Amino acid sequence: MMSSLPMQVALMLGETIEKVIPVTVMLALVFTVLEHFWACNSGLPWWRKREIVTDICYWFFVPVFARTMRIGLLIVTASVIFKIHDADELIAFYDNGHGPLSQLPLWLQGVLFLVLSDVMLYWLHRLFHGGSGFWKYHAIHHSSEELSWLSAARFHPVNLMLGTIGVDVLLLTAGISPNVMIWVGPFTTFHSAFVHANLNWTFGPFRYVLATPVFHRWHHTSLEQGGNTNFAGTFPIWDVLFGTFRMPKGELPQEYGKDEAEMPAEIGGQLAYPFRRS
Ligand SMILES: [Zn+2]
Ligand SMILES: [Zn+2]
Repeated sequence: MMSSLPMQVALMLGETIEKVIPVTVMLALVFTVLEHFWACNSGLPWWRKREIVTDICYWFFVPVFARTMRIGLLIVTASVIFKIHDADELIAFYDNGHGPLSQLPLWLQGVLFLVLSDVMLYWLHRLFHGGSGFWKYHAIHHSSEELSWLSAARFHPVNLMLGTIGVDVLLLTAGISPNVMIWVGPFTTFHSAFVHANLNWTFGPFRYVLATPVFHRWHHTSLEQGGNTNFAGTFPIWDVLFGTFRMPKGELPQEYGKDEAEMPAEIGGQLAYPFRRS
C-alpha cells in the first residue's frame, strides 16, 4: 500500500533530496566563482576542506530533519491548540494561514516572518552562547576551522529545534501563511550559505542592513577575537540595538573554530558530543 508510513517517509526523503541537489549545484557554482575572486582568507578552496564529507552529510541531513520535524510539530499544535484531528481539515487549516495575520498581503506576511523570526533567533542564539548548558549543542556549529558556504548547515538537531524549526512552527501556528516560504525559503537558504562563504564583503555603509560574510565570520572567531558578538542571522540591527555589533574597520577575521579543537571531525561523533560531556 502506497500510504504506509515508512513509504511516506521514504517519499518525503526522496522529494527533499531531489530539491536539495539542484540548489546545491547552483550554490557551488556561484560560490566557487565568488570565493575565487573575493576570498576573505587565503588557503584551499572549499572542495578541498578536510571536513567536507562531514559538511555534505549535514547539508542533506538538516533539510530532511527540519522538514519532518516542522510537519510533525504543526500536526501536534493543530491538534492540541486548535482541536483539528482530521487530515483534510488540517491541510485546509494551514493552506493559506489562519486568523488575522493571514489577512495581510502575502508580501507583508513574508516581511513579518523574516523580521519576527530573526529577532527570536537572535535571542535564542544568545541563549546558546550564554553558558547555561546550551553551548555544547551550538559548539558544533562553531567547530568549522575552514569556514565556507558549505559550513552553513552544520547544526546539532537540538540547536535546530530550539532555533529555526521552533521559530517557523511558532509563526505558522500564529497564522502566517506557509506560502511566504515561496520566497522566504530560497532567500534564507542562499543568505545563510552567503554569510558563511569565504568572502571579504562588508557591504560598506549597508553593513547594518544585511548580515555579510565578514560580519558572520567574526562571530566564528575565538571568544577573545569576536566570538561573542554578531549574533544576528539576517539583520545586524539587533546587534546594534542590543550592543553586540562588531566589525573592526579595515580588519578581516582570520581564524575560526579554535575554541572547539577537541570536537570530533565526523558527523556521528559530533551529534553524540553534547550527550557525552554532560
Ligand atoms: Zn554562535
Ligand atoms: Zn555560522
